[in-house]
Amino acid sequence: MTSVIATSEGTGQQVEKTNLLGLPLPALEQFFLDIGEKKFRAVQVMKWMHHHGVTDFEEMTNLGKALREKLAGCAQIRPPEIVSQHDSNDGTRKWAIRVDGGGLVETVLIPDGNRATLCVSSQVGCSLDCSFCSTGKQGFMRDLSAAEIIGQVWLAIDSYDAFQTSNSRVVTNVVMMGMGEPLLNFDNVVASMDLMMEDNAYGISKRRVTLSTSGVVPALDALAQVSEASLAVSLHAPNDALRNELVPINKKYPISVLLESARNYIDAQSDKKRVVTIEYTLIAGVNDQREHAHELAELLKDFPCKINLIPFNTFDQSDYQRPSGNAVSRFWQVLVDAGYIVTVRTTRGDDIDAACGQLVGQVVDRTRRSERYRQAAEQNNDQAAGQAT
Ligand code: SAH
Ligand code: SF4
Repeated sequence: MTSVIATSEGTGQQVEKTNLLGLPLPALEQFFLDIGEKKFRAVQVMKWMHHHGVTDFEEMTNLGKALREKLAGCAQIRPPEIVSQHDSNDGTRKWAIRVDGGGLVETVLIPDGNRATLCVSSQVGCSLDCSFCSTGKQGFMRDLSAAEIIGQVWLAIDSYDAFQTSNSRVVTNVVMMGMGEPLLNFDNVVASMDLMMEDNAYGISKRRVTLSTSGVVPALDALAQVSEASLAVSLHAPNDALRNELVPINKKYPISVLLESARNYIDAQSDKKRVVTIEYTLIAGVNDQREHAHELAELLKDFPCKINLIPFNTFDQSDYQRPSGNAVSRFWQVLVDAGYIVTVRTTRGDDIDAACGQLVGQVVDRTRRSERYRQAAEQNNDQAAGQAT
């Protein structure tokens, strides 16, 4: 692997090599100008990275030798490291990925007919602590860099050798629905979504790149100025009293404020036919009753949306239960009768625990365990060293 640290000529001073993987086109162009090169080099290098999956400057045959050497001295193309990969019987593939500093995140690819949706993480953990979310239970560790976010798309395509066959259609859709709250890592998420939609990178249509938020309203207002990605709002409750319990950020930005911001977001888009996806995790006995469905139908009356129902995925530290199939159908029917377009997210990759947050939960546990072993071993060494002196 390319080393992260370079020694700047003459001074002996150590400088960090710029990871080019996460730079959107204007930033990559600026990088080339800054190192005294022509702007058009940015498109060439961007295509090598994101169309061909090349990470070694030596393989970039349309760059002269001098430029390749210069780049090797000051830059790198470094995707995050895969810790484990799991394939489900139903075709779902899930990766645990180690990012700089040792945190772990997950990425899931869910093929479905002609489509394949990649579920991408934006943070290690999450600070918002929604009551039903295993990522929230881990607390917040850190934001992912843009290279680590777009690197998940890169890794998914690379793992099918699809760069080599020029078949980057391995990923047709991306949803920012892995670990973390994307709007709390605004700049890096916007930069990586730009790369997803950029023709010289992945060229995925703006309708097929979706940001999901639990409702960080000021950031959503700001997003409307800079992004054309599709929007999903994690609502989960039809009234503020219940939503305050499930999604604590609701106390700061209640439902009416959130829905208004979401409406402004789609109003700001040039494509006027767009709607917001309302996500609603159904939790048995908590928010899945007939009256909740009626209240939701009333709340969203006149709001341009479709509704995605997600039966709760159970995990160890939670007492919540997944509702029965009947309860889900009953909820669905009320909304359909009220005229909504409603989908129910089927659980995929059950045999590899590909449901929200679970694989990482296991890996984190294992890492914690090995961390304990490491500490215990160090303690033993210290004691041994102490005894020796
Ligand atoms: N932070 C963002 C995106 C990541 S969560 C958000 O909250 O929207 C992606 C989706 O999975 C959200 O709708 C979230 O509410 C849902 N989710 C989280 N934990 C879940 C669980 N245990 N069961 C079902 N859905 C869950
Ligand atoms: Fe964070 Fe989203 Fe989980 Fe809430 S549901 S804790 S916002 S990742």
